[in-house]
Amino acid sequence: MPFIDIHPDTDFPIQNLPFGVFSTIANPRPRVGTRLGDFVVDLSLLDDENLFGKRHGFFADSSLNRFMASGREVWREIRQRLVRILGEEQASLKKEALISIDQVQMHFPVNIGDYTDFYASREHATNVGIMFRGKENALMPNWLHLPVGYHGRASSVILSSTDVIRPRGQMKGGGSSPEFAATRQLDFELEVGFFIGTGNELGKPISIDKADEHIFGMVLLNDWSARDIQAWEYQPLGPFLAKNFATSISPWVVTMEALEPFRVRGPEQDPAPPPYLKADFVSGFDIALEVTLQSARMDAPQTISRSNMKHLYWSIGQMLAHHTITGCNMRPGDLCGTGTISGPTDDGLGSMLELTWRGERPIQLPGGETRTFLQDGDTVAMKGYCQGNGYRIGFGEVTAKILPTL
Ligand code: CA
Repeated sequence: MPFIDIHPDTDFPIQNLPFGVFSTIANPRPRVGTRLGDFVVDLSLLDDENLFGKRHGFFADSSLNRFMASGREVWREIRQRLVRILGEEQASLKKEALISIDQVQMHFPVNIGDYTDFYASREHATNVGIMFRGKENALMPNWLHLPVGYHGRASSVILSSTDVIRPRGQMKGGGSSPEFAATRQLDFELEVGFFIGTGNELGKPISIDKADEHIFGMVLLNDWSARDIQAWEYQPLGPFLAKNFATSISPWVVTMEALEPFRVRGPEQDPAPPPYLKADFVSGFDIALEVTLQSARMDAPQTISRSNMKHLYWSIGQMLAHHTITGCNMRPGDLCGTGTISGPTDDGLGSMLELTWRGERPIQLPGGETRTFLQDGDTVAMKGYCQGNGYRIGFGEVTAKILPTL
């Protein structure tokens, strides 16, 4: 077995070891793998050979759920074993266990029971508030006291590369009655999603100190939005059809263990949060994020936004503690989105709504095209990575193309 050649700027060095579900032509059964450089490692095969000390069985599943439910001690043990197996013991690996990425088809990694989306970026909430309600009412009175969220739709969470069909719906018309049409304000939202590993019993909240132990890992998430539908429908119960038609995620779930060295202090929280949301540990993450747009006429994508997860006002632990404070039970594989992650500068805004200021400042694309919102044939891609000393913990990408209304 030759030594695996890993490019220094790969998203997937040995420090990463994310988990995903894949199949091959030779073995079309979806199963769990990890990624190392340009290879996928078949973990069901390693498990069959008893390389993890004991047989787990869950790597032969077509989702990560049973592995996620096994708990942090097991996740850590498996990660430590994998570092050894793919490092110093690499030479003893069977060649069938290592599959070139171009031979692999990725599958949706998790059976998501419930999906919740938060609204945790102060910059994003302020920008949207100004546009929808005016400067005086930008941040609602509750915003600095709790991480605002809503229960989303799990069935339309889709894997990266799945096309998105432009939705139709009601929106404000010119006269007194609404109009029914294909959305003219189709948008992306740059987010990070986090998956629940071990859940909690109904009636028993997850405390802020324990919250991070329940989180298995993160993916890139694009929460597609139809702004004209949203503006007409959102009061009084929040978004509904404007956000239920598609939410794209990246295929590799990057673990909390891999992200641990990239914790950073989040923004100062003033007023101080109530005790159930008060954390004494460093709970932000330094994850550089980037959005590119490529129209049907362009031959290469153009970067339109650069942001970072460290700007989030509320931490993912606070989101989880808040979500469960009522006793709401989370289950393995539940997905939470952070909400659009906008940075403090004009080139770090996480949606077209903000980048173009609701269409007032169109984005210039090469070849003379401009964009206020997304057009049919546009492809949006998001990337994310943590920069270590001489290595990167990357997320790969989440991408999708817009197709015309049916
Ligand atoms: Ca969102």
